[in-house]
Amino acid sequence: MKAPDFAYCRPASIDAVCALLAEHRDDARILAGGQSLMATLNLRLSAPALLVDINRIDALRGIHLAGDGNYLRIGALARHAEVARSPLVALHAPLITAAMRHVAHPAIRNRGTTCGSLALADPSAEMPACAIALDATLVLQSQSGTRGVPARDFFFGLYETARRDDELLIEVRVPCQPADQRVGFDELSRRHGDFAMVGVAVTARGTPDRMTDLRLVVFGTDTMPIDCRDAAALADRQAWSPALGEAIASAAAASLDPDTNMFGGPAVKRRQAAALIRRVLTATFTSREAWHG
Ligand code: FAD
Repeated sequence: MKAPDFAYCRPASIDAVCALLAEHRDDARILAGGQSLMATLNLRLSAPALLVDINRIDALRGIHLAGDGNYLRIGALARHAEVARSPLVALHAPLITAAMRHVAHPAIRNRGTTCGSLALADPSAEMPACAIALDATLVLQSQSGTRGVPARDFFFGLYETARRDDELLIEVRVPCQPADQRVGFDELSRRHGDFAMVGVAVTARGTPDRMTDLRLVVFGTDTMPIDCRDAAALADRQAWSPALGEAIASAAAASLDPDTNMFGGPAVKRRQAAALIRRVLTATFTSREAWHG
């Protein structure tokens, strides 16, 4: 199918984008990498009157250390491929580097943007779950000013976020990983590069003898990533053991509310999630590299 008719503009500044969004609101869509948007247009799942292409705006490019070296700033035009091979991301946010291997295929990663993935909020996408696990902040700009929204408050449901129609997501800020933080990531998908049937992102601090601050985010099962806080709290100041991993996995899986889709019903998805959580926790807490590397 062909896309419906739309107007197209390619402004040169963030202010010009914000002015267009303020004028056209829900009739306008930001065009970043186009890897999701163009497909929805061609399938006529959406029909915006205006596409606002942000690809000319240099201020939205790049990945930098900012805030006196306290966080990574990933600009709205940083492509998945750029994030995947960034030494800064590998050093300060290795969870994102680990997860990027699972995001789509090279051609899509070359154009698709990490902020585009956050703005889209596909429930099976890797980056929203990582943003929650890492306590990232999404920075939104409109004619009214700039505001930061913690990732845990950004995702509402299926493709629903806290972003207002007149706001551009200009960057995501990811706190630099503390020295004693360890991370784990894995997902189940039919083929490598497909969207996840279920995925798990983990961060933790402390030592295997005394774990603290476990964050466990499950995605692909519900309409948005699920931050399994109650299950993760079972690990607080505990020593790692397979029995503890089992208890956390069971509690986390029970807290999910999966729909039935082509991959199965709630019982299947909970079983898949529990198995994957056990696998990721075991890898994170027993690998010598993870704790002593
Ligand atoms: P676009 O397609 O340009 O935009 C997507 C949506 O976000 C639009 O509504 C747009 O208006 C909005 N938007 C984009 N940027 C901004 C911004 N800065 N501010 C406000 N709104 C914005 N993704 C995964 O995570 N995992 C996968 O496994 C995966 N597999 C894929 C497989 C295929 C075959 C395809 C085609 C895509 C796949 N994707 C996957 C999606 C891919 O990662 C997209 O690149 C990403 O979801 C959207 O990024 P984009 O820059 O292309 O955004």
